Amino acid sequence: MSPTPVLSSCVPFPIEERTLIDVTQKAKDWAIMHGAAMRSKANFSPDALNFAPFILTPSSFPRKEFEKAKELQTIINQLMHNVAHDEEFLTTTLAETIKVDEFTANLFNVYKKVLANGFGQAYSLGLLRSDYLAHILEDNSIKQVEINTVASSFGGISTHMLPLQSFVMVELGHADKLKNMPENTALSGLCGGMIKAWEVYGARKSVILFIIEDVSYNICDQRFHEFYIREQRPEIKVLRRTLTEVHKEGKLGPNKELFLGEYEVAVIYFRAGYEPDHYPTQDEWDARYMMECSRAIKCPSIHYHLAGTKKVQQALAQPEMLERFISDPEKIKAIGQIFTGLYSLDDSEAGNASYEMALKEPEKFVLKPQREGGGNNVYGVDIPDALRKMSRVERAAWILMDLIQPPISQGYMIRPGGKSPPEIVDLVSELGIFGVILGDVDNVICNYQAGHMLRTKLSTANEGGVAAGLGALDSPYLLD
Ligand code: ADP
Ligand code: MG
Repeated sequence: MSPTPVLSSCVPFPIEERTLIDVTQKAKDWAIMHGAAMRSKANFSPDALNFAPFILTPSSFPRKEFEKAKELQTIINQLMHNVAHDEEFLTTTLAETIKVDEFTANLFNVYKKVLANGFGQAYSLGLLRSDYLAHILEDNSIKQVEINTVASSFGGISTHMLPLQSFVMVELGHADKLKNMPENTALSGLCGGMIKAWEVYGARKSVILFIIEDVSYNICDQRFHEFYIREQRPEIKVLRRTLTEVHKEGKLGPNKELFLGEYEVAVIYFRAGYEPDHYPTQDEWDARYMMECSRAIKCPSIHYHLAGTKKVQQALAQPEMLERFISDPEKIKAIGQIFTGLYSLDDSEAGNASYEMALKEPEKFVLKPQREGGGNNVYGVDIPDALRKMSRVERAAWILMDLIQPPISQGYMIRPGGKSPPEIVDLVSELGIFGVILGDVDNVICNYQAGHMLRTKLSTANEGGVAAGLGALDSPYLLD
């Protein structure tokens, strides 16, 4: 492999020890006091918060690529909207996958039942996040890691990373550099989408429902959304319920209204429901189906959820596929350039060729199942064993993707219980761009780019899940 270049840092490193210890302690308190925080998994208490892992100073990211990612977002929003409304495409693309992947099959089953029964609501709300790594082999141009259509998280906390790191930069005497740290409108942008959907639903006393896990570790991120909505629109109440609770309390009204007790639900925002564990029994699937049949506007609706699967992402990257969804050749070209190689592992000629290719040079690839939330992929040298354990048919549950090689930067990763003073470490950053789209099959009412997040991990880690404990929240320092 070629050597990985180091992006220049925003301030000279290392930071002198006394200064570093002081500023780190201040930054931790700043984070807790402003809600850049999470519940502890190790010492869980509903009454306490830890600061969320963060990078002390903003990590460098190429400005041109950051701007490009932002500009492309409305095209990506429209693309996903069109994909979600293409029944034939979803059905053929997922046909092999659902034979072997039970979870995707269950989602697909909900979709088919709703199609047969009629959708209670034509509008869908997409709060999307398109994730990128810069790729050193292509001059640091961005490549899409994945697109999230369900529970696209960290818009709330990420909005607080710019002020946190701005505070640190000023403390370190670098106020002149704040101009290279872009503003972030993720929280207002995402909540704006939910408020707009609530207005479209058009019932004065209706509420917004957040579907949550049994325990929410990422509570601040969710609460930021809830509190922002209440602050902007005091008349809108937010309810939080698990799928199990919706099954117990929910029922449909005469016009397919979703009622939870006395409350009519206008908008359903799923922060859970994207992994098998969220559906411990048939009850949770029944609750999902009831919500999908209802008049409430879903974020995401079941077809948007399916459009966000890895299998669909892989299918979209095949030659000429984008032409089905986008008419402007310039846009097709621009989107095509952010895709890296994505390969089917179905039991077909092409799928068997990708299987052989992965066995031959596994270090060039990532193997991905149809799962969200991190920690599910198989990397490099581990791929052959994983593949050999699967039958030909089982491989269809997975896709193969070119490994993206991001440039390295340096910085201090600050974690609860971490070393003092922190050590300087090699890092890589993944950029997420949020997008909001609201519409039905023919009309799009709003479509905009809604800010960003930067998540940074040790360069030696395959994955950088913040909740999983390997990554940290960050914001970009733009390099020309
Ligand atoms: P999930 O839905 O679990 O978040 P992702 O596709 O985002 O799945 O993969 C999880 C993580 O794995 C990413 O955040 C990234 O750090 C790493 N990763 C995924 N795909 C690639 C790739 N093609 N090249 C390099 N790293 C990757
Ligand atoms: Mg991801």
